[in-house]
Amino acid sequence: MKEVILIKYGEMALKGQNKYSFEDVLFKQIKRRLNPLGNFEYSSAQSTIYVDPQEEGIDLDEAIARLQKVFGIASICRACVCEKDFSDICEKAQVYLEETLEETRTYKVDAKRADKTFPMKSPEICRELGGILCEKYPHLKVDVKNPEITVMVEIRDTNAYVHAVKLKGAGGLPVGCSGKAMLLLSGGIDSPVAGYMMAKRGVSISAIHFISPPYTSDRALLKVEQLCDKITDYCGDINFYCVPFTEIQEEIRRRCPEEYFTIIMRRLMMEIAQRICEKEGSLALITGESVGQVASQTLQAMVCTDAVCKIPVFRPLIGMDKTEIIEISRKIDTFDISIQPYEDCCTVFTPRHPKIRPQLSMIEESQNSGNFGELVEKAVEGTQLKRFKLKV
Ligand code: ATP
Ligand code: MG
Repeated sequence: MKEVILIKYGEMALKGQNKYSFEDVLFKQIKRRLNPLGNFEYSSAQSTIYVDPQEEGIDLDEAIARLQKVFGIASICRACVCEKDFSDICEKAQVYLEETLEETRTYKVDAKRADKTFPMKSPEICRELGGILCEKYPHLKVDVKNPEITVMVEIRDTNAYVHAVKLKGAGGLPVGCSGKAMLLLSGGIDSPVAGYMMAKRGVSISAIHFISPPYTSDRALLKVEQLCDKITDYCGDINFYCVPFTEIQEEIRRRCPEEYFTIIMRRLMMEIAQRICEKEGSLALITGESVGQVASQTLQAMVCTDAVCKIPVFRPLIGMDKTEIIEISRKIDTFDISIQPYEDCCTVFTPRHPKIRPQLSMIEESQNSGNFGELVEKAVEGTQLKRFKLKV
């Protein structure tokens, strides 16, 4: 029996004329992931993309697993292709849905007619097919309000389709339709999740990471690279910038009051990140901060950090609890990497008593006593780029 994959997109359907450029980006994302699995034909109509395998033996389960990581997709289902003929629809539905219906107790039939010339109207299709299924599977009960499954019959231009199992897509908008932003990626739990959340809104992600050897180890960097590699599953290709930060941290330690170490360090990270953004066309910064999580994430501290930023700083986790963030990190499979115990540059120079409510004027004054201009320049020059590609 011939099967296709139907992909429904959600929010994108609401974008009017822009819909077509969203659709182009989505098509590109889908083809990139599916083409290595075999030859497919793609078409679209009424907020649905049809993926039609053109050869035998293509692994459709793998195709669906890949599609579930593509943003912009609301739901996915495997459907059986029928002729536009009611008896063919009934015959195939009974066989195709056998396994599903045997495991189900309550169901309903729903029908959609894109082709209004089809001789039966939707309620009639539902009634007739429902009757046939009830006869064949007597344990089934109809429940129109809250059925376990909905058997769907779609009458389209050239074919009819029958399906019953709808899988949830990744939601959001396709990556690449909302511009590019730079994720400050640490080895922690939060920042990979922050990158995932912005990618979900269609933003292409670059990443920047600050290292302070010999205070931070090769192993710590490797861990961050693993995280970057992992989030390409959802984010697509990522340019990863690695910034040598040791001299700056040593200068902070030498010149600035200990209680301000972290804030000054974060301001310098932001300055460097912005310089890299300018070079590569990123329009905003992204961090994994959440209000009150640590001393540098109070409102006052964020005011001091943002004072050096000329571009927007997105903090998609700002109102989330740690438990909620962890839940997402498990879902996207970054949690186990994040909890590996390697020190990063923030933990190495952590002040014993950080200022929880710093004042901008005091921070600026303390930072002026360091010679940071040249060191920032040098760090930007020493930054190394590594490209992480989506694995297909
Ligand atoms: P995370 O779990 O993401 O490490 P955190 O709760 O440990 O966050 P901080 O260490 O204060 O918080 O870092 C706050 C944010 O600053 C991080 O989410 C990340 O965006 C950025 N950041 C921290 N350290 C680095 C680093 N070494 N390189 C790049 N970005 C960093
Ligand atoms: Mg951290």
